[in-house]
Amino acid sequence: MPNIRQLRTAIRSAWRSMTGTGAAPRDLIETILEDNFDGLLVIDESGQVLAASRVADELLLRPGGGTLVGRRVGQVLPEKIVQTVEQVFSTGRPAEPTPTAPATLHAGSPGNELIVLYVVTLSRLDDGSGPRPVVCLTFWNETEKRRGGEELAYLATHDPLTGAYSRSELIKIVHATLAGDRRREAGLTMLVADLSRFKTVNDALGHSYGDMVLKQAVSRLRAAGIETVARLGSDVFALIQPGRPSEAEAQSFCRSLIERLVLPYTLAGHRAIIGACVGFTHTDRSGYEPEVLLRHADMALSAAKASPGNNFARFTQHMDDRLKEKQDMEVDLRQAIERGQFTITYQPQMALESGELVGVEALARWEHPVLGIVAPDKFIPAAEETGQIIELGGWVLETACRDVASWPFPTRLAVNVSPIQFELVDVVSEVRAALRSSGLPAHRLDIEITEGIFMSNAGFVTEALQRLRDLGVGIALDDFGTGYSSLSYLGRLPVDKIKIDRSFVRSLPGDAEAGAIIRAVMTLSETLNKVVIAEGIENADQAWMLRMMGCRIGQGYHFGRPRSSAEMARWFSDAVTRRSLAG
Ligand code: C2E
Ligand code: MG
Ligand code: MG
Repeated sequence: MPNIRQLRTAIRSAWRSMTGTGAAPRDLIETILEDNFDGLLVIDESGQVLAASRVADELLLRPGGGTLVGRRVGQVLPEKIVQTVEQVFSTGRPAEPTPTAPATLHAGSPGNELIVLYVVTLSRLDDGSGPRPVVCLTFWNETEKRRGGEELAYLATHDPLTGAYSRSELIKIVHATLAGDRRREAGLTMLVADLSRFKTVNDALGHSYGDMVLKQAVSRLRAAGIETVARLGSDVFALIQPGRPSEAEAQSFCRSLIERLVLPYTLAGHRAIIGACVGFTHTDRSGYEPEVLLRHADMALSAAKASPGNNFARFTQHMDDRLKEKQDMEVDLRQAIERGQFTITYQPQMALESGELVGVEALARWEHPVLGIVAPDKFIPAAEETGQIIELGGWVLETACRDVASWPFPTRLAVNVSPIQFELVDVVSEVRAALRSSGLPAHRLDIEITEGIFMSNAGFVTEALQRLRDLGVGIALDDFGTGYSSLSYLGRLPVDKIKIDRSFVRSLPGDAEAGAIIRAVMTLSETLNKVVIAEGIENADQAWMLRMMGCRIGQGYHFGRPRSSAEMARWFSDAVTRRSLAG
């Protein structure tokens, strides 16, 4: 920051070295005042401007407004600077610059306000008639930088697209809303809303249309009288409502909110229909920590999204417990493979006609040191979410192939493979490697998949499945009837076997509808030349009925529960012994 003191010293020393005399000539000072980038004013004790730089004239006067020289500072400078100038004269301490301070200049035309930083120094001028005090005022234009700063501050607290608050600002607002006993007593409701099918608008119409939806959504929330709206993620908003509503009031508020959000959106000639889900909680349930309130409302939102037909949900402690359980499990899972806590059990698959063992399905088990045996329904989803299914699935495939290949009787093996494995690793190579290292022939292996696998990336999956079939490996469609099952597309899927889910088998023989569905699947499978396996057969009646319907293979507790590799080998040799004794 240049100031006039340094400037003057520099001029003096330059002049002295050139001429050997003490005072710089007037035209040299004028050149410097002309060329300087700062506003420089030299002011005498009466408040008159003795010298002014070109920039000072430009900043303080209208274009063509002449010069400041000769004017009184009270006419051209803001009150704040004038006061500083007076103070500096009154203290009379030369060569002590005032601290840099900001001031607003009403420059040139009205409304053209500039923010400047300025500094004032006292000097003694000796122009022949004895030393007299003058002050030098240096100021420079900071308007752009300051406005940029304001812009930055806005961006830090707001979403630039919709004008909604940012997450961090929301947290501050919640803190402020709950500051003090009385406000805490009043409490607040935290709501998190998520737009569904928003991505479809983005994908189908483009991001500019998506932006329009978001802006309109925020305006609709504001129009509903909600002051605090924050944007948390692409199409996720948080809102707060102060006070303590009754359960019924909270629910009707959610309903009205959703009604507003789902009204058709008009987007420059297009109409978009968007869905919305809301999760909410209250300080009474979740306490006063903004982060916890948000987390709980978000959990409630996930619950609302997961329950079909319900588009809003209130946070319950149960949701938190379940999440914690899942998080704990994810941590434990990490060590489970290294520590050898996984085992594989094998469940027999029987030919319904002859009662012979035709294969086994490998089912993973986790022997948790504290929880005991954990069922796959609990840990598979957690392993899928954390990506640990890759390691686990690879281990199951390899170990099961090795176990089954080592048994003294040749039988088929079915291994479950998760869609995540298909997404993240080359399942075909893994299968090939497992077959090679175990020596199990490819035609004795089935890979079980679920319909979910075709939901994303269907082309890529179909190709991988086809390559597995080319190796000689069979593909079985697991849990048929529970997913998006459509009989109409069955013929197009590259699968060899269909496993009818146990929920249909369970209601046999009494349930006519389940019977009709199974019969339809049987008929179609026969036409399509696919083998049907019935899962979950628990009694002889079910086994008989399925056989009558034409089902060839059955699996279930009626024939055998999943057991270890060693037990399986023993069970089989016992069966062989029994049969040879009977024969
Ligand atoms: P799934 O592939 O449909 O496996 C059949 C499930 O039905 C097994 O449950 C089995 O124990 C059970 N089950 C068999 N017979 C009966 C019966 O008569 N009655 C009843 N009520 N249940 C019966 P499990 O072992 O708990 O496995 C659950 C699911 O976990 C499996 O369903 C499969 O989708 C998944 N899973 C198991 N192991 C693995 C694995 O290694 N990798 C992958 N990706 N998923 C696995
Ligand atoms: Mg299975
Ligand atoms: Mg199944």
